[in-house]
Amino acid sequence: MPLKISSWFAPAKRACLICGRDSAQVTASIPIKHPEARQAITSLCGSCRQSIPWIAHPVCRICGRAERCEDCIRRQTRYYSISRCAVRYDDRMKDWLALYKYRGNEGVESILTAMLAFAYERLCEAAAHSEFHAITSVPLAPERLQDRGFNQAERLALRLSGWYGVEYRPMLSRLRHTEKQSLKTRRSRVVDMRGNFSAATSELFSNVASPRIILIDDIYTTGSTLDECARVLKLASRSETTAEIYGLLWARS
Ligand SMILES: [Zn+2]
Ligand SMILES: [Zn+2]
Repeated sequence: MPLKISSWFAPAKRACLICGRDSAQVTASIPIKHPEARQAITSLCGSCRQSIPWIAHPVCRICGRAERCEDCIRRQTRYYSISRCAVRYDDRMKDWLALYKYRGNEGVESILTAMLAFAYERLCEAAAHSEFHAITSVPLAPERLQDRGFNQAERLALRLSGWYGVEYRPMLSRLRHTEKQSLKTRRSRVVDMRGNFSAATSELFSNVASPRIILIDDIYTTGSTLDECARVLKLASRSETTAEIYGLLWARS
């Protein structure tokens, strides 16, 4: 049967990349400027879109947490400048990340990157510039990488790098595998991170006086992974004060 002319102009039905419901009719505003990020968010249905727990107004100006933050008050030395997280890591966000980790789905990847883009734009506002020299990511231990098949932090970082035209450079490697973080107390986590990562000396460090580097990870729990990576990146640069490291994380637990 031929299609009615009116159907040519009706919005096409599109399945939400997360839940499969129709995503065509949603017109709510999207809090991100980048066109590809906006496009990715429009592939969500209204209900999925509304359920994103954006951290639009961070209370902690250092780590971008939505609540008052004892961790940043307590920490005496910090190697990263500031960090921003896109969302709170609630049960729904846990499901979305699990969906991505186990399916490795490109569509879900573009949605998670779009959420990271929200954090990137907030980071530029908080840092009062968008002059970054490189993006890098927190590496997985080799055995973890082999189990999972890909490093989600690296994949999100690569895509974000393409969107904003900031070069992606692998700079860190993970030396040993740590036990699951949630099983430990905060203190033992901080201590355990020492000696976990190494940074390759990049020509960036010899060519640029104060390279500003964005370090990407999926989840911020205590900030000790981020801070340890920032520490070794700074050690790899010419002196402890040269490189500036900015954290960018998809979710804040
Ligand atoms: Zn949906
Ligand atoms: Zn904080």
